[in-house]
Order: sequence, then structure tokens, then C-alpha cells
Amino acid sequence: MSMKAFELRNPLTLKEALGYLDPSDVHKDRIRIMAGGQDLLTEMKEHIVEPEIVVNIKNLPGMTGIHYDRNTGIKIGALTKIADLSTDKTIRQFAPALAIAAESIASTQIRNMGTLGGNLCQRPRCWYYRNEHLICLKKGGKNCLAASGENKYNAILGGGPSFIVHPSDTATALVALDARITIAGANGTRTIPIKQFFSLPNVDVRRENVLKPNEIVTEITIPNASRNTRSVYFKFREQVSMDWAMSAVAVALEYTGGKVVECRIVLGGVAPIPWHVPDAEALLKGKAPTLETIQAVAEKALDGSISLNQNGYKVALTKALVRRAVQYLVATPTPPAFRDVNRM
Ligand SMILES: Cc1cc2nc3c(=O)[nH]c(=O)nc-3n(C[C@H](O)[C@H](O)[C@H](O)COP(=O)(O)OP(=O)(O)OC[C@H]3O[C@@H](n4cnc5c(N)ncnc54)[C@H](O)[C@@H]3O)c2cc1C
Repeated sequence: MSMKAFELRNPLTLKEALGYLDPSDVHKDRIRIMAGGQDLLTEMKEHIVEPEIVVNIKNLPGMTGIHYDRNTGIKIGALTKIADLSTDKTIRQFAPALAIAAESIASTQIRNMGTLGGNLCQRPRCWYYRNEHLICLKKGGKNCLAASGENKYNAILGGGPSFIVHPSDTATALVALDARITIAGANGTRTIPIKQFFSLPNVDVRRENVLKPNEIVTEITIPNASRNTRSVYFKFREQVSMDWAMSAVAVALEYTGGKVVECRIVLGGVAPIPWHVPDAEALLKGKAPTLETIQAVAEKALDGSISLNQNGYKVALTKALVRRAVQYLVATPTPPAFRDVNRM
């Protein structure tokens, strides 16, 4: 069956774009925002969503580009292409975890079309959600079909009532980099820590973030970190190309005088949101990291994990990624490329 016909709006200003959006939750799927279209158009072709109006935000001014300011940090417009994040010299130097995460995404073609805002707001990949013939919890059904079904790729942390995992690689890296996200709405803009942007299914099972139906993500800011801060992104996927993470780890770590001064560890591909593990970080802060300490950090990071019947492998896999990412940062000051860490 072909895609359902829709009206396309092409606003030229943010105000005009916001004017097209409907504040009502009841009608949230009637009007949808489109940036690069790499996820939305797939959903529409597969009849997962069938909006009457699509608001194309690609032409909005001032929402593209990467700007570095030594006082405020790195500002990235939400319409910046994923490809640019992976090649930009500023990101590679000051936020390598993000560059590596971006480089790991999909294919060159998708990275050239997909935007950072769209990557953060993409919908889950769970195949029950993506199957137009199945009505899972996220589409108004009564049960999470993955919970008792094929759940090899689903959540081991923070799951319930839905067991999706958050699909965005850039999201995991940005939480580790303590980024902030700016959102525009009819009543002005708000900026919040990106960690607070993502929400668990037990808050609202139909959503993955706190974005209201009439809001647009406009910018992401990564604050300046100390000169001795390093970051990295390790991702495990089933196929060598074009696949979402089965498990991933982003670590940002300030390492001075042989000691970890600060660190942030975030797990991807294992929970419905990028999963921040402050209790594991606490074991590392102020310490000269030995193998035993790093092993203890990896164990702590998976505290509270509950496997479904097919995804128990994620526990050991994720512990290994945490261990390797921390060891890598302690041993290697220069930012690696994705292909390098992936070969280790
Ligand atoms: C084969 C394949 C493999 C992939 N592999 C990976 C992978 O390994 N890792 C990964 O992270 N991603 C992966 N992706 C996902 C891909 O990166 C995203 O689809 C893409 O980033 C979406 O960006 P976009 O600009 O095209 O978003 P769109 O499709 O335009 O939008 C996506 C969603 O975000 C909303 N949205 C977009 N921009 C904004 C905004 N500024 N404010 C508010 N809402 C907005 C839209 O309404 C829509 O719901 C893959 C995709 C494909 C097709």
C-alpha cells in the first residue's frame, strides 16, 4: 500500500514553523516535524505514523553549524548533519566521543542526510513497534510484545512497561559530555541538561523524551571541559555496517597526575534512555585506576540489570565495553576514530 497523502509545509522561519504545530497531545501524530526525513519517512512508508501535515524544518535559518567559544563551549545547530559531527575538527578535538558516535551511525548517505536533532528524536527500532500489523504498547496496545517475545535487542536496564532501547548513538555520547539541549516552543525557548530530555517508559510509554508536540529542538551545547578531559565511544553491533548498537558505552574522563578527577559513564543500547551510571563513576573518582578498580566500575555499571529471556548476553558485553573504554582513556590521550576502537 502506498504512503498516505499529506500536506507539506515549508516554513522559512522558526516562528512560522512553530505556528504550524498543534499543542494538543491528542493530535500529536496529525502534524509531524521533518528534518532529514531518514526516520520519519520510513515510518510513514511503513504506516507506523500517518500525519496529515508534515512540517519540513530543513530551511529554518540559524539552526545549522558547529561553533566553538572558549567561554561557553561548542554550540551545534539541531539541523547539523551527522556527517559533519564526525569530521569537524573542533568536535574531534574537544568532544571525540561525539565524533566517534556520529561516525558509527548507519551509512555515508544517511549521515549526509540525517541531522543531529533528528537522530536524538528518532523513534525506537524494536521490531514490534516497527511492524505496522502489530499494536504494541507504544502504539496504544495493552502489552509490550517484546517482553515475552523476541527480545534479543531489548532493554536490560530501566525497562517496563515497555522494553525498547534508545536507538541514538549521539544521545549516549552527549549525555557523557554533559551537553545541554535547547527547545523552542510557542512561549519561548528552554534549555535543559540533555540527560533530562530523555524519559523512561514508566513516565509516558508512548514517548521517549519530554518534547511537547508543539516544540522544536534548536541547539545542543557541549560545555567546555578541562584540558585533561578525554572521551571515547565504544559500540558493539551485530553487523559491520549500518546497524544500531546492541550495546555501547560513552566515557568522558578527566585524568590528571595519574588520577581520575572527574568522569561520566553512559551506557547505550541497553535501556530506554541513555543510561547514566553515577554509582560506577564514584568508584573511579579520585583514584589511580588499577585493573581491579576498573573491573569493579564495570560490575557496578550493570547493577540492577534484569535480563529478558534472550538478552542476558548484554550484561557481560556491556561490562567488557565499560572496562575497555576506561582502560583506553587511561592509556591513550589522543582521540581515536571509530574504526580504530572498533578493531581493538
Ligand atoms: C539503515 C539505517 C541505519 C541506521 N543506523 C543508525 C545507528 O547505527 N545509530 C543511530 O543513532 N541511528 C541510526 N540510524 C537512524 C538515523 O541516524 C536517523 O534516522 C537520522 O539521524 C534521523 O535524522 P533525520 O534528520 O533524518 O530525522 P527525521 O527523520 O527528519 O526525524 C526523526 C524524528 O525526529 C523528529 N525531529 C527531527 N528533527 C527535530 C527537531 N529539530 N526537533 C524536534 N523533533 C525533530 C521528527 O519529527 C521525527 O519523529 C539509522 C537509520 C537507518 C535508515
